[in-house]
Amino acid sequence: MATVSDEVTSTCTHCDRAIPAANIALHYAHCSRNLEKCTVCGDMIPKRNAEDHFLNTHAQVACSMCRKMMDRDVLDIHKGESCPQRIVTCEFCEFPLPAVDLAEHQEVCGNRTELCHLCNRYVRLCERFNHEARCNGIPDNNTVGSSRDVREAERDEGARRRRQNDFSKRHLLFTVAITGIAVLFGSILFQKRTEHSDLH
Ligand SMILES: [Zn+2]
Ligand SMILES: [Zn+2]
Ligand SMILES: [Zn+2]
Ligand SMILES: [Zn+2]
Ligand SMILES: [Zn+2]
Repeated sequence: MATVSDEVTSTCTHCDRAIPAANIALHYAHCSRNLEKCTVCGDMIPKRNAEDHFLNTHAQVACSMCRKMMDRDVLDIHKGESCPQRIVTCEFCEFPLPAVDLAEHQEVCGNRTELCHLCNRYVRLCERFNHEARCNGIPDNNTVGSSRDVREAERDEGARRRRQNDFSKRHLLFTVAITGIAVLFGSILFQKRTEHSDLH
């Protein structure tokens, strides 16, 4: 049998490949029956695999995190850099959270204050790097700024305690109300509990 290079070739009208002229009829019969040209990439694909080829190569895929449909070749970039649901970490507390929530979280998180041990002032976390760069390290309690910061921190602490007290009061009222309702419903069990708590 002669090698392909020696032979005259003809072009298969189905797959556009050069085929030894002697084999062209047989090739064409096989080619046209079994293969088809992918309308997207132009590759010749076995007909029975055409659907798989399309789904695996060209069909849009859904991002597993945000469900958005996109071309397969941009999926990795999307997941790594632009998916709103990708997990990022807060630069202040390093808590992992979805990118879409980051700005709102950092607004709150970055406004927390931390005591700078060099100058003894309370510094907002979002200003910490700036502050560390220019902190003179001198505990300077005479300036209006620092004493105000400390007073603010103390006031915050007071407010927190008041909220806790409010909560305790509300909780007590809630308990009393529940007990009252139980009595109204004539529940013996709850009445006993009420009498019991009245003793105290
Ligand atoms: Zn062909
Ligand atoms: Zn294709
Ligand atoms: Zn996504
Ligand atoms: Zn945070
Ligand atoms: Zn400082």
